[in-house]
Amino acid sequence: MKQKNVVILGSTGSIGTQTLDVIDHLKSEGFNPIALAAHSQIDLLEQQAHKWQPQIIAVYDQQKALELQKRLPDQKIVTGIEGLKEVASLQEADIIVSAMSGSVGIQPTLSALKAGKNVALANKEVLVAAGELIMSTAKEHGASVIPIDSEHSALFQCLEGKDHKSVRRMLLTASGGPFLHYSRDRLSQITLKEALMHPTWQMGVKNTIDSSTLMNKGLELIEAHFLFGITSENIEIVVHPQSVIHSMVEFIDGSMLAQMSAPTMLVPIQYALSHPKRYPGLIERFNYTHFSKLEFLPPNPGFKCINLCYYALKQGGTAPCYLNAVNEVLVERFVKGEILWIDISDKLEKLLMKYQPEKELTLEKILETDKLGRLHANSV
Ligand code: MG
Repeated sequence: MKQKNVVILGSTGSIGTQTLDVIDHLKSEGFNPIALAAHSQIDLLEQQAHKWQPQIIAVYDQQKALELQKRLPDQKIVTGIEGLKEVASLQEADIIVSAMSGSVGIQPTLSALKAGKNVALANKEVLVAAGELIMSTAKEHGASVIPIDSEHSALFQCLEGKDHKSVRRMLLTASGGPFLHYSRDRLSQITLKEALMHPTWQMGVKNTIDSSTLMNKGLELIEAHFLFGITSENIEIVVHPQSVIHSMVEFIDGSMLAQMSAPTMLVPIQYALSHPKRYPGLIERFNYTHFSKLEFLPPNPGFKCINLCYYALKQGGTAPCYLNAVNEVLVERFVKGEILWIDISDKLEKLLMKYQPEKELTLEKILETDKLGRLHANSV
């Protein structure tokens, strides 16, 4: 059997650890993690290194890389953005799982695609900030971008074997987050503890806060636009609190396809690795008696972030990149207790309305815009 060598960028995060669970489960099919990369969580990286014996490890943080090297003297360890790029384009790699949180994932993802590697993409910020560049680089080098994000995995599965011209609309489902029915007044009093409690999904901190503001869904709208080449007018966001239907495609003849499963990332992660094949999965048979009611509602208009994402996409150019960078910093500031939950969308709106996007979308321009967004978001 042919080995399927996997590189995991972000192996200590929520998607990364679940990817290793899936790989453990698919070991007999030849899946093998040959390289691991993380930002700075070296305790977990050390455990993962003992278990998986990767060829190479990248630690983004230089101090932490040195510390890990002391603990694992015989392990090849690289660091910084160059280190991430090196593991992302490893010659022996067959598939790169891009699951670092935030825009730090842009350059390694581009390196992987330039090396002609297929990328299983969980990091939506990469597509939001650099979607055009990512998709054109993939095309140029004959590489595929396979979504791990559950909604996009659903759309990808519904679209398989279909003519894209036959698509009328994509319906992106949203759980609605923990504050689905809150009034604007109540929204202004939300605490960090409340924002970290998601009703249906277990995720990393950034993603959980983004889900509470519905920014996550807005970013996914931009992600879907770049992944599937569909205009924003033909993507609709539908609140579906049970999180069982992960998204739907409506075709021009009125037929609709939806992809369903229990709300767990294990299914889209496994499919991104195994595509186009399917293997037995890690989850139990679907029990419909636990889901006797499936609801569909329009999003609560008190949440501004979805509209800000439609706006940024319409503005085009560097606007989505700017929006993404500003949001990342505002979320960090909320988690640190510097700003209120409601400030995330209010401050984002204020900055975005003043921003003049640029048309040019080179890597340099994207990194410059990312920096500018961070600067503005730290001082607003
Ligand atoms: Mg998602």
